[in-house]
Amino acid sequence: MRVIKSIPALQKIIFTYRAKGMTVGFVPTMGALHEGHLSLLQKARQENDIVLLSIFVNPTQFAPSEDLARYPREEKKDKLLAKKENVDIIFYPTEKLMYPSGYLTYVMVEVLDQVLCGAYRPGHFRGVATVVTKLLNVTTPTIMYLGQKDAQQAILLRRMVVDLNFPVKVKICPIIREIDGLAMSSRNQYLTTTQRLQAPVLYQALKAARQLARGGQCQVATIKRKITAMIKTQPAARIEYVALVDAQTLQPINTISGEVLIAVAVKFGRTRLIDNVILSVNS
Ligand code: AMP
Repeated sequence: MRVIKSIPALQKIIFTYRAKGMTVGFVPTMGALHEGHLSLLQKARQENDIVLLSIFVNPTQFAPSEDLARYPREEKKDKLLAKKENVDIIFYPTEKLMYPSGYLTYVMVEVLDQVLCGAYRPGHFRGVATVVTKLLNVTTPTIMYLGQKDAQQAILLRRMVVDLNFPVKVKICPIIREIDGLAMSSRNQYLTTTQRLQAPVLYQALKAARQLARGGQCQVATIKRKITAMIKTQPAARIEYVALVDAQTLQPINTISGEVLIAVAVKFGRTRLIDNVILSVNS
């Protein structure tokens, strides 16, 4: 496994592999790797000759009030985990390498960046789209693997790849959860013991919503009320949003039909958790 911290060095290696006709599976992350990230690496390993992992805590996707400074950084542990997954290359750029002084260029995906998390984290998806554009330009992979855990991010990046003609395939992989249903996240380690005990309510509420919809309930307002009531049973939970939207356009719907994304964002103290399920309903 090679750990590369320079852009020309990375480009040279990838170019050599691609020139030999080898495929490169790319998994972009912010590190503090857990089973969710590892599932993406495993999928990339199954499907490609070369597996490339990037680890970069991207400052442009954090608002000044957010957790950039305290975001977990676990370089040593991450390298061990990556090695176990037979990762070939880790791209580990510094902030200065990605955003040298004088940096002025940003990428925005309109409309999709305004809803759900975008409404509560202004500028977040501009940061995400910008860093992924840069990473795709320097890594030129065959397939990019993203998690459904960050459903809005995955849908927005899939749009960006099509809109900007990036020659890469995007694969969205399932959410990996703890035994009690909590979606794995690098941010779960911020939770206090009490908050951690209450946090599985997100998935419990989403599952209840899915059951309701599968049972024939097609009124979004009713399903939203159920999710909200369930989450509110946990005293530490502060709901940011409960949303049912079209899974392609992310626009709100009133009745359930087609592919529906049911998404929630809930704060436990300063820790913000997100989760979702995607529902396919034949009307
Ligand atoms: P992050 O390091 O949080 O930016 O995540 C890097 C990638 O891992 C993103 O595509 C995430 O959606 C994905 N990911 C994070 N958590 C999970 C999870 N629990 N299950 C599956 N994928 C995940």
